[in-house]
Amino acid sequence: MKQQEPLRNISELGEFSLIEELTRDFHSDKKEIIVGIGDDAAAISLDNKTVQLISTDLLVEGVHFDPMYTPYKHLGYKAVAVNVSDICAMNGFAEYITVSLAISSKYSIEALEELYAGIKAACIQYNLELVGGDTTAAPFGLTISITVFGKVHKTDLVTRSGAKVYDLLVVSGDLGGAYMGLQVLEREKEVFKTNPEIQPDLDGFDYIIQRQLKPEARRDVVGILKELKVTPTSMIDISDGLASEILHLCKSSNVGCHVYGEKIPMDTQTVQTSIDFNIDPTTAALNGGEDYELLFTIQQKDLEIIQSNPNFTIIGHMTDEKDGIYHIDKQGAAVTLKAQGWKHFN
Ligand code: ADP
Ligand code: MG
Repeated sequence: MKQQEPLRNISELGEFSLIEELTRDFHSDKKEIIVGIGDDAAAISLDNKTVQLISTDLLVEGVHFDPMYTPYKHLGYKAVAVNVSDICAMNGFAEYITVSLAISSKYSIEALEELYAGIKAACIQYNLELVGGDTTAAPFGLTISITVFGKVHKTDLVTRSGAKVYDLLVVSGDLGGAYMGLQVLEREKEVFKTNPEIQPDLDGFDYIIQRQLKPEARRDVVGILKELKVTPTSMIDISDGLASEILHLCKSSNVGCHVYGEKIPMDTQTVQTSIDFNIDPTTAALNGGEDYELLFTIQQKDLEIIQSNPNFTIIGHMTDEKDGIYHIDKQGAAVTLKAQGWKHFN
């Protein structure tokens, strides 16, 4: 008799291997699907000019947010922003959202109204219409699922897979702030748990706490690139950490990369807080997630336009796939780039 194989626990696989395994048998020959699973959003051709973009994201209490220090209004705003960010990563513009909630009985109507005030603020900020959703009871916590629909002109569509050898690697804004903001919030939570009399000390951490609690999608960057007439060759948004996203771009585009640690843009508050927490600032920037900046590659011909724009920093270049993916540190040593981003299943 054949011995039964033991059941495998999901912790055996990383998030991405799990998705790959589960979706292995789904193949489509529908020609209108330009991009299916494996990018920031799906891209479906509507006609010969326009592409529909669709993306969805979940926020789960205890995994993605801690109600102890997350104002519900900020949570609603962030839930929308992280979805819009995935549409920006395709070089497109978000238009509509649906919002679905699984709510446990500990939640008050007032808390949910605050959540929706945040959703509304984000709809105004990103010019979105709320067009539906679903609401259900849950045994515990709160889960928010948002789906976003957007559009992009076919010739403007940018995926993860177009980077070429010699392309330059560019990032918008600055990195590591959201992660360091989270460290400060977690520290103050521990202080509060041991002594509820002590008020949280968040003075001087305003920027990084905002980066964590109320991130913005870089919709403005999509507009700026259009104005500059620069179409990135590939693009992704930074949700899991720079290292993880570089590996995604390289894998999808079949290229290697050199990223220069010293060039990674960081705010002074992020750097100072990293040092105070005994965390190497470059490590915070490479592996701390949730900055929601855009990471993209450009052709060499666009170097000057991008270099002279204060929104962007060139942090590396793409190499041949067989040359590998490296972080070049301050001393000039090449270290194989590894993703130590979020490991939700561990
Ligand atoms: P992002 O970080 O940009 O939100 P993810 O890492 O969540 O993207 O997802 C990577 C890709 O896998 C996306 O194309 C997403 O639509 C797809 N995906 C994620 N989870 C599932 C799932 N359970 N079933 C099918 N596709 C999935
Ligand atoms: Mg993404």
